[in-house]
Amino acid sequence: CGIVGYVGTPGTGAALEVVVDGLARLEYRGYDSAGVALVGPDGGLEVRKKAGKLVNLRDLLEASPLPPSATGIGHTRWATHGGPTDVNAHPHLAGEGEDEVAVIHNGIIENFAALRAELAAAGVTPVSETDTEIAAHVLARELGRVREGGQTGAEALTEAVRRTCRRLEGAFTLLAVRAHEPGTVVGARRSSPLVVGLGDGETFLGSDVAAFISRTRSALALGQDEVVTITADGAAITTFDGEPVEGSPFHVDWDV
Ligand code: GLU
Repeated sequence: CGIVGYVGTPGTGAALEVVVDGLARLEYRGYDSAGVALVGPDGGLEVRKKAGKLVNLRDLLEASPLPPSATGIGHTRWATHGGPTDVNAHPHLAGEGEDEVAVIHNGIIENFAALRAELAAAGVTPVSETDTEIAAHVLARELGRVREGGQTGAEALTEAVRRTCRRLEGAFTLLAVRAHEPGTVVGARRSSPLVVGLGDGETFLGSDVAAFISRTRSALALGQDEVVTITADGAAITTFDGEPVEGSPFHVDWDV
């Protein structure tokens, strides 16, 4: 339902505050659960998620605090596949070691049953009932293949997201972070909104400009079937097939 992504300058620690503040600004859309994932400065993924209102997530974060981080994603969920439980809340984790990723998602993956059967045959058992977790496992496996092909760093995650999107049917906005890739968030969209916010030494993703309007009014619109990789320095956009795309800059001059 609501999606926020953030990368700040390495060594700074604003990700949690920015992401939770962004989720609060997207609350008007309605939701049943909320969650965040942060990438530690030296790698590693930390997830906190909770059914119910954002206050429940805030309480969890107080009871179980997260270390400062410059990279994070956050989601408010409107359940379509699986009830509004803590386990079904996003982000969803998949993969191990170098392939470990966390994913948030708006929309519906229409072919999730076929993908789930394929994963089951490969010995992957999801812990939730969501279509989103299936996409996360597909991504982790694609990342493994991309890395076997010799690609590394942010480009490996970006290429794995492209390959995953080409396998998904339906309408979706996806955001992914990788345990071994601090400083990068990759987003993708098909028939579901995603905008980029360009700040000074910080870059944002949002399902809506409300997610980042308190910090920047400089934005980039994405087209259909596009993937965007953000770092503290800005954004790089390609099609699902890897063709570079400019993105359409716009200035948010209205109040939300
Ligand atoms: N289909 C996903 C789920 O049920 C995402 C729902 C949403 O758009 O929030 O978890």
